[in-house]
Amino acid sequence: MTNMNKQIFNTFLIKYAEIGIKGNNRYLFEDALVAHINAAMKTIPGKFLTRKTPGRIYLECSEDKNGAAFDFDEVVEKLKHIFGIVYICPVIVYPTEDQEVLREQAVKYWGDMYGKTDKIFKVVCRRGNKGYPLDSMEVAADLGEAILDAFPDLKVDVRKPDIFLNVELRDKTYIYSESITGPGGMPVGTNGKGMLLLSGGIDSPVAGYMISKRGVSLDAVYFNAPPYTSERARQKVVDLAKIISAYTGPINLHVINFTDIQLAIYENCPHDELTIIMRRYMMRIAEHLAYENGCHGLVTGESVGQVASQTFASLVSTNEVCTLPVLRPLIAFDKQEIVEISEKIGTYETSILPYEDCCTIFVAKHPVTNPSRLVIQKHEHKLDDIIDDLLAKAYETDEIIEIGK
Ligand code: ATP
Ligand code: MG
Repeated sequence: MTNMNKQIFNTFLIKYAEIGIKGNNRYLFEDALVAHINAAMKTIPGKFLTRKTPGRIYLECSEDKNGAAFDFDEVVEKLKHIFGIVYICPVIVYPTEDQEVLREQAVKYWGDMYGKTDKIFKVVCRRGNKGYPLDSMEVAADLGEAILDAFPDLKVDVRKPDIFLNVELRDKTYIYSESITGPGGMPVGTNGKGMLLLSGGIDSPVAGYMISKRGVSLDAVYFNAPPYTSERARQKVVDLAKIISAYTGPINLHVINFTDIQLAIYENCPHDELTIIMRRYMMRIAEHLAYENGCHGLVTGESVGQVASQTFASLVSTNEVCTLPVLRPLIAFDKQEIVEISEKIGTYETSILPYEDCCTIFVAKHPVTNPSRLVIQKHEHKLDDIIDDLLAKAYETDEIIEIGK
């Protein structure tokens, strides 16, 4: 792939899988995908045109009106971040129905791409244009023969080819043979919006990435606790949101000052229950913000059993304070698996920066791992006189940072 002759291409065939099967809603998914491609291309030099034909999206690239050329690698890099794309295929397009011309073009394509090699190849023809004078088997056989004539070292084996030379006869004629893997999933925004509880850790950015891959767009909330947590810790969360926004699209990040609520819990509740009660207030606030911002539910980076506040019993306790669904894409993942994804999406290096987090400051030596609902509720009642006021004040601190706009 790296040695590929990139200069010969100015069009990409964008393949999508799952969104191809959504029946009558298919156009919604395709339109969303086209909109995301257009938005991404606006951020790089070049002129771009997306073209939709049944089952296919093409991206045509040329130089912009100032003469700035598009860059193949830059385009591919952008496309690799757009959920819904399964394969990105650089493709040659000819407005021809002439088999003689197609032969020449196929031989030229082979020469430009691979030249003299002893690889095994196979020509695959799809004939969407039913008016074409030859059928697909005849086209494939004819092109295979022409290429073999021109490059006698080649071998044909229809069972185990190294290279598939795809020829598609549709509104135009298309030739391609390389597929660059896209991120898969579904276009962001086709599956509602979630409020991501985003900390500076490894897990929650990965959770945001994963749920967004299923078409969910995101807002996020970060609870900070100044002066116990620093500006650097806050900046780290902003940076993480920026990194995932390359995939998830724009994020409104809500920063909530959580200090007074944490102090109130610390002063009034048993210390082995601090984390769980704190988590319950985070969920309540996140849910409030979710309702206010049109989100369908909450998203967290929790994974069952990872820490005391994520035992099954603890999750029950954090869950019971909200009515909206809480999506936990990492629930059954091991830490190592989560780390691998965070490395892949580029959040790991930022996540491991050693800045304090609001959870780590007021942490008990022996937190409960099997919290009783009734006991937790009883201890939470100790905050009854002050909590409404504290929550109202916390909402007032809501600072919205627009990420990736
Ligand atoms: P992470 O690596 O994402 O920080 P974690 O393993 O440290 O997760 P916890 O600290 O128990 O786990 O938090 C569980 C989840 O609660 C996080 O994945 C995140 O969704 C949310 N969360 C924790 N702390 C915060 C915070 N300060 N602001 C926003 N959300 C938070
Ligand atoms: Mg954390």
